[in-house]
Amino acid sequence: LIELRNVNKYYGELHVLRDIDLTVGRGEVVVVIGPSGSGKSTLCRTINRLETIESGTITLDGRPLPAEGKALARLRAEVGMVFQSFNLFAHKTVLQNVSLAQVKVRRRGQAEADRRSRQLLDRVGLLDQADKYPAQLSGGQQQRVAIARALAMEPKAMLFDEPTSALDPEMINEVLEVMRQLARDGMTMVVVTHEMGFARASANRVVFMADGRIVEDRSPDEFFTDPRSDRARDFLSKIL
Ligand code: ATP
Ligand code: MG
Repeated sequence: LIELRNVNKYYGELHVLRDIDLTVGRGEVVVVIGPSGSGKSTLCRTINRLETIESGTITLDGRPLPAEGKALARLRAEVGMVFQSFNLFAHKTVLQNVSLAQVKVRRRGQAEADRRSRQLLDRVGLLDQADKYPAQLSGGQQQRVAIARALAMEPKAMLFDEPTSALDPEMINEVLEVMRQLARDGMTMVVVTHEMGFARASANRVVFMADGRIVEDRSPDEFFTDPRSDRARDFLSKIL
C-alpha cells in the first residue's frame, strides 16, 4: 500500500533519511523505533508529503505521491496522521473537531458528518464527551478525539508519531487500546512508539532506525529475541 524506494532527505547539510526502502502492505502494522534524532518523525512526515525529498520515490496504492495542489490535499485525507501533541481546535467542541474536515475536505453535509462523528466517538469511547471542549478533556481523551478525527476521513492508512509520549502513564493504555483495536480491524498503520508491549502484541514488523537508515526490518519476535545489529542491541538494553 505504501512503498518507499531509495528515499533520501536532507536538512541543509544534514542527511536525515538515507536510502530508505520500506514497504507497508495493506492491513500491515509497522512499528518504527530508534534513538532520538534517528529520523523517525521525518520518515512519517515524508510519507504524508509534509516534507519534500531529494531523491527516491514514494507510492501509495501504486501511484506516486502528488507534490502539490488538490491531489496532495486528497492524499493527506487518505493517510491519517496522529502526532504526539493532539492539535485539536481549542475553540471547537469535540464533535465539531471530528466533523470539520469531513465537511470541508470530504464535502459531506453537516448532518451526515455529525452522524459519522458520533459513530467514531462511540468507537473510541467518547460519545458522552461530544459537546465538551478539548480543554475539558484529559490528554488521553484528547488523543482519542484526534484519532477519531483522522478516521473520519476514511483513510487508507494511519501514521502515528509517538501518540502516547505526551500522556500521563495512566492514560497511555486507553489510547493504545484504541490502536490495538484499529490494528485488529485491519487498518494499515505505521507507528512510531516506545511502547514495546504494543510492538510485540500488534506489530507485524519492527523497523529499527539509526542515523537516518533502516538498520533492521523484521518480525517483533525475531527483533526482540535476537537483534542483529549492535545499535539495536544497545538501544534495547537501554529501554527494556
Ligand atoms: P525523536 O525520537 O527525538 O522524536 P526522531 O527519530 O523523530 O527523534 P527526527 O525528528 O526525524 O528524529 O529528526 C531527525 C534529524 O533531523 C535530527 O537530527 C533533527 O535534529 C533534524 N531535524 C528535524 N527536523 C528538522 C528541521 N525542520 N530542520 C532541520 N533539522 C531538522
Ligand atoms: Mg520524533
